[in-house]
Amino acid sequence: MVIDFHCHVGTGEELQAPWTTRATLELYLERAEQAGIEMTVVFAITSNDYERANGEVAEIVANHPGRLIGFARVHAKRDAGKIEHMLRRAVEDYGFKGVKVHGAEAMPTRELCKVASEMRLPVLVDIVGRVEVLPLLATEFKDVPFVVAHLGSFSDDWRVMQFMPQLLSRYPNIYADTSGVRFFDYIREAVEQAGPKKLLFGSDGPLLHPGIELHKVKLLNLPPEDEALILGGNAHRLIFK
Ligand SMILES: [Zn+2]
Repeated sequence: MVIDFHCHVGTGEELQAPWTTRATLELYLERAEQAGIEMTVVFAITSNDYERANGEVAEIVANHPGRLIGFARVHAKRDAGKIEHMLRRAVEDYGFKGVKVHGAEAMPTRELCKVASEMRLPVLVDIVGRVEVLPLLATEFKDVPFVVAHLGSFSDDWRVMQFMPQLLSRYPNIYADTSGVRFFDYIREAVEQAGPKKLLFGSDGPLLHPGIELHKVKLLNLPPEDEALILGGNAHRLIFK
């Protein structure tokens, strides 16, 4: 099964960029279907109010039964003190399966990781290049799977991507998604050094085309069983345990 581990849905408040305005699902779903993507992990765009935004994502997920997997989004600092409450609601009321944190807002805190550990939730984290934080997260919370979005840098920072294969190899609970990575050979190196169990296909839709992102994984020309892990097997293992 092909699972896209990284896609945004819903609306934001600030209207200053596409990712604070609206992520529309319809065009994504059309493209994903053409590409053969069967399930997609979805979560909010950047918002001033993740309780509202998570509720909106929950409605969208409920309208697409069996097709979408919801993740909660939290701002680890602004939402401090209520993260357990937010994630319990997300899991128990909305059926969400993980949590997304964006380092441009706040990196994962002890509070967030502790709740993720207790609730056995994978943490998808955009580290915005802050690769030095990963060993700290991975060793403080060995039972929490951290999936590093964009192989560590959406902004093409090769210095970060160069270190990712080592970190993926060294820490069993560090993974990475392939979304938005332009420097193809860093993906290839990550698979060669860390193995196919440590990478997850993600698109960062709807702004990025899921078919293009999926094709990047196919261009690795891996043995079918290895390709299947990256395209969905690893996501399935982390989400459904
Ligand atoms: Zn994203």
